[in-house]
Amino acid sequence: MPYEDKTIVCVDCGAEFTFTADEQQRFAERGFTNEPKRCKTCRENRKAQQGDSGGRGGRGSSSVGRSGGGGGRGYSAGPRQMFPATCATCGQPTEVPFKPSGNRPVYCRDCFQAQKAGGR
Ligand SMILES: [Zn+2]
Ligand SMILES: [Zn+2]
Repeated sequence: MPYEDKTIVCVDCGAEFTFTADEQQRFAERGFTNEPKRCKTCRENRKAQQGDSGGRGGRGSSSVGRSGGGGGRGYSAGPRQMFPATCATCGQPTEVPFKPSGNRPVYCRDCFQAQKAGGR
């Protein structure tokens, strides 16, 4: 048996925990060469935190700032970028999912629906 239980002090909370022979073997099988530095509790805490912030693109959801995030083409799963515009019919400020070019009138949602429904 090359492995034997080992006591390690958690770098996060300072608690001692046992890195058991069993776990060492599993680590080795997965190719991990490092010993765990954190107790199980802290590891799980970290995992939970990382999972939370990592997944969905929650950044840049503020207004239209051109902070140059890089590659935001609107194809991603995130919320669409909206551009401020003024409705050509009622003059209300609104937001549209495309950049208003100035050539075409932009309508707020209400007027857009009214147009579509009522023809001209
Ligand atoms: Zn800990
Ligand atoms: Zn309108």
